[in-house]
Amino acid sequence: MEHILEAIQAGASGEELANLPIPESFRAAFVKRDEADMFEGVPSADKDPTKSIHIDDVPTPELEHDEVYVAVMASSINFNTVWTSIFEPLPTFGFLQRLGRESESARRHDQPFHVMGSDASGVILQVGSEVRNWKPGDRVTVHCNHVDDQDPTAHDDSMLALNQRIWGFETNYGGLADLSIVKANQLMPKPTHLTWEEAAVNALCNSTSYRMLVGRNAARMKQGDVVLVWGATGGIGGYAIQYILNGGGTPIGVVSSPERVQLLNDMGCEAVIDRRAEGYQFWKDEHTQDESEWRRFGKKIRELVGEDPDIIFEHPGRSTMGASVFAVKRGGTVVTCAATSGYMVEFDNRHLWMKLKRLISSHFANYHEAAAANKLICQGKIHPIMSDVYPLDRVGEAALAVHQNKAEGKLGVLCLAPEEGLGIDDPEFRERVGEDKITLYRNR
Ligand code: NAP
Repeated sequence: MEHILEAIQAGASGEELANLPIPESFRAAFVKRDEADMFEGVPSADKDPTKSIHIDDVPTPELEHDEVYVAVMASSINFNTVWTSIFEPLPTFGFLQRLGRESESARRHDQPFHVMGSDASGVILQVGSEVRNWKPGDRVTVHCNHVDDQDPTAHDDSMLALNQRIWGFETNYGGLADLSIVKANQLMPKPTHLTWEEAAVNALCNSTSYRMLVGRNAARMKQGDVVLVWGATGGIGGYAIQYILNGGGTPIGVVSSPERVQLLNDMGCEAVIDRRAEGYQFWKDEHTQDESEWRRFGKKIRELVGEDPDIIFEHPGRSTMGASVFAVKRGGTVVTCAATSGYMVEFDNRHLWMKLKRLISSHFANYHEAAAANKLICQGKIHPIMSDVYPLDRVGEAALAVHQNKAEGKLGVLCLAPEEGLGIDDPEFRERVGEDKITLYRNR
């Protein structure tokens, strides 16, 4: 990929890039099918992504008519990178096999290796014959909603498509690599004021939070809503807080350290709960929840903002769902997209039905939502929450930091980009948006 990087750095035209040969193999971060049981018997918290993630060359797949080759300049770690690398709740090779059975071209995905990664920023090198709106040389970010648009189920809300998948998690050839294949309907313009790594960290988490709170498919937050956000300086939480502040709501951020409390205050979120300092024990033991602790949590919220939350932004799952269903306002909404601490959740259904609360599920975002969320980044109205950057060959360490809840916001990964700080196309606009806002998580 050296010649490609040189051409990009030299400002080669789209036509010149399109004429460069695509190498037969490329560097990628992947897990191996024959190692999927390597952590058997190891407690989840001790499963170490540095042991399962390999960095090496993999063969380049053929390009389909509706796909493009992207020279990946940067990518990011998502929690699904952790899931893939610790083979939980299932090894991802089952997803690849199922995809491989769907069509002749999908068979490319079913390999003994799985190239991970569901975010990318980069440059288009070549486009398939049916790609209309994008061309070689375009600087792009990639969202991870992978759907086959020749299926009617994909044409209302594409997240409802029967063949909907997350690129780089349920498909092969993800973004943690020097090269990727993506469908043309995953492409979005790269924000001109951001570096490659700042541009790469947003799409998955930003779009997820957009759908959960702003889009018409989930909680549909409105001005004046009080919204409680678990993990409020985490990947999805850090964008959620920005949407609430932008949208005229009142955020309550829950975090687990004084540093995170400070970070939220610096974002403009005044109502913050340090769950560790409060010492909440929602579960008395593995089988029993403690309603008095739910009450103590609810009381704290009322002390802070004077009322119960209209919306609770839920993703820890088993640890917190009981408390979330209890604490949300009568008639309010708990919106969930995940279960980091366990997916067999438990709550007191009386609090749900007697108080007419709603529990809504949400999952990533359709193209329309992802594009709307990307537009807000491009306009400098939502900012990247990147706290650190790793080179591709240290992806395992980065995934371990996320697994151990040691990282704030998002971690960027340099793929082809040789160093941080490259890729800004519009420095004047960057100045207008404000370096302090763009780098709030980075410069601490
Ligand atoms: P992250 O960056 O690791 O942030 C998660 C935050 O949750 C942490 O910062 C932590 O904050 C908090 N947390 C962790 N365990 C907790 C617990 N037991 N109780 C309360 N809070 C806890 O991860 P992320 O990127 O935000 O993703 C969060 C979850 O959403 C993951 O499970 C991920 O797979 C999922 N997700 C789903 C989608 C989707 O489309 N469905 C998209 C993105 C992410 P404090 O320790 O500071 O409280």
